[in-house]
Amino acid sequence: MGRKKIYTEDTKWLRQIYNNKKTENGGFSKVTTIEFIEWFDQSVYDKGCCYCGTTHETSKKIFDFQIISKGRLDATRGKHRMHRLELERVIPNEPYDNLKNLAWACHWCNNAKSNFFTKEEFKPVISDAIKIALDKIIEEIDKKIKYE
Ligand SMILES: [Zn+2]
Repeated sequence: MGRKKIYTEDTKWLRQIYNNKKTENGGFSKVTTIEFIEWFDQSVYDKGCCYCGTTHETSKKIFDFQIISKGRLDATRGKHRMHRLELERVIPNEPYDNLKNLAWACHWCNNAKSNFFTKEEFKPVISDAIKIALDKIIEEIDKKIKYE
């Protein structure tokens, strides 16, 4: 019963993330799809990127605008990235099975942090700069939407 409930349209994207991370080095091995879906907390996701605070809505707005305006270089890996927050390993070399180490990050923080910076190195300076840059982009988008 519980198993069926978990395989819904709403959890499809989580299952896709799980499957993608299964094949990756250090990917899920002990944690099951169901455990991963149960780990997911909508209220945590809604708070936005664990580094800069960019929300899903902001990320999606930039993504959608990019698609309509064709105004920006495609950094989306075939337009699949950016419209959702991405699963992030805070300590990069920890396996995905360590659910406590998992968080949500925006595309830009995830890319910039890569597997190199620690959270402590990344958060105070780089993620703040990303947030400032993204806020300016959102401002431009809002202006363009207003005058179109
Ligand atoms: Zn971010």
